[in-house]
Amino acid sequence: SSSPGGPARTEAPAVAQVEIAAQVAALRAGFRSGRTRPLAARLAALDALARGVREHGDALREALREDLGKHPVEADVTEIGPVLAEIAHVRRNLRRWLVPRPVPLGALLAPGSGRLHRDPLGTVLVIAPWNYPVNLSLMPLIGAIAGGNTAILKPSEVAPASSAALAALIGEHLDPAWVQVREGGVPETTALLAERFDLVFYTGGGPVAKIVAHAAAEHLTPVVLELGGKSPVFVDEGTDLAAAARRIIWGKLTNAGQTCVAPDHLMATRATLDALVPHLRDAIRAQHGADPRHSPAYGRIVNQRHTERLAALIDPAHVVIGGQVDIPARYVAPTVLDGVRPADPCMGEEIFGPILPLLEVSSADEAIARIEAGDAPLTAYVFSPDAQVQDRFVRGTRSGSLALDVTLAHLGAREMPFGGVGASGSGAYHGRASLEAFTHAKPVVRKPLSPDTLRLIQPPYSGARARL
Ligand code: NAD
Repeated sequence: SSSPGGPARTEAPAVAQVEIAAQVAALRAGFRSGRTRPLAARLAALDALARGVREHGDALREALREDLGKHPVEADVTEIGPVLAEIAHVRRNLRRWLVPRPVPLGALLAPGSGRLHRDPLGTVLVIAPWNYPVNLSLMPLIGAIAGGNTAILKPSEVAPASSAALAALIGEHLDPAWVQVREGGVPETTALLAERFDLVFYTGGGPVAKIVAHAAAEHLTPVVLELGGKSPVFVDEGTDLAAAARRIIWGKLTNAGQTCVAPDHLMATRATLDALVPHLRDAIRAQHGADPRHSPAYGRIVNQRHTERLAALIDPAHVVIGGQVDIPARYVAPTVLDGVRPADPCMGEEIFGPILPLLEVSSADEAIARIEAGDAPLTAYVFSPDAQVQDRFVRGTRSGSLALDVTLAHLGAREMPFGGVGASGSGAYHGRASLEAFTHAKPVVRKPLSPDTLRLIQPPYSGARARL
């Protein structure tokens, strides 16, 4: 997590460990029963999940408002809508995706046949974060079900209302031998991680990801790590600054900046920054009014601790827009900081809040060099009318994804894998990539006994000569 001083390791209470072991055993038995394998059963489970999301829609929206001050429309656009769309997409395509893919075998194995089967992994653990608690719990779960696995979901205790709403939804609508929810915080997660799983799918911050990866390694369990990072924005000369500002501000202020792919900071030449600032101000006003505190569309920080963390990143000397913080109300105004330098505190960790630092660079090449000097971000954003500049970023930087002239909405591309690289994570999901993440591609090779062509390569090798 992004907690100051790093994550705490805590011993799991013995009771939780016993209960959790029983939960995992039930899911293992569920997997062994074979109920998760037939396509029809997977589709029915996905239908049940969709039904649950619809029936519990209001409870989910209410929980998201309580945890994060999320406007119901934002809840629909960023959480509930994408989950229902993903279920519909997987439902439409799963039959086709599961058809074993023929693979040519080459001369050695002729005559013969080869196919790649998508095997379920078994029983998987999904650990979700608090910032999009519904989306980031259920999207992986859809992949787990589509893949024919049984699964246990551990939502984040930092968004408690959403965690409870998810537990109620899943408890009511899904077969407990197939999917279960385990609520709780560090002790419960620690107890879960002591169990053996066939995959751990973790979304959250890097420090906890290391704990998860360590624990999984004890069982040689593979991990998918969906992490974060400082996703940079470069704005080129010649860009339509009013249009770019609307997209950058929308990307930054959605969920009050608590988005893993939020534009973290912005780089441009001095002239571009000076021209951009009034457009950023206009975009904030257009989306949230003169005082965003009263905007029903503007969210709140998840808790006081994170609000304090963000307050400490706002250096009044750099504020050109906003800067107001109300810690008990968990409010941080949309804030733009200018004249920021790479050594400033806001350039240390991922901001994860509605604060946008502006950094002056002399050129696109300097921005590229800065991106390459840091950890690979989850997304890199480039606003430029110049195809050559766009291409320099595409080829010259490493990031989980790269978005040109757009923020956040690139995640809506259903057939694009979503994931990080390096410090922003490993493995990817969404759509077909989810099925791939939650299954093993098993080669199945058949070589009929007759004609017995393999005798040609068996000892005693008389008459044959090695030819490499
Ligand atoms: P968090 O604090 O909710 O932690 C994530 C999960 O880890 C929770 O379920 C929590 O219970 C568990 N956890 C916390 N401490 C633990 C410990 N010591 N041992 C075992 N488990 C523990 O969320 P967070 O880490 O603050 O989430 C924010 C981070 O997640 C940001 O860095 C963000 O960029 C990243 N993120 C990434 C994605 C993505 O899809 N790549 C999406 C959202 C968030």
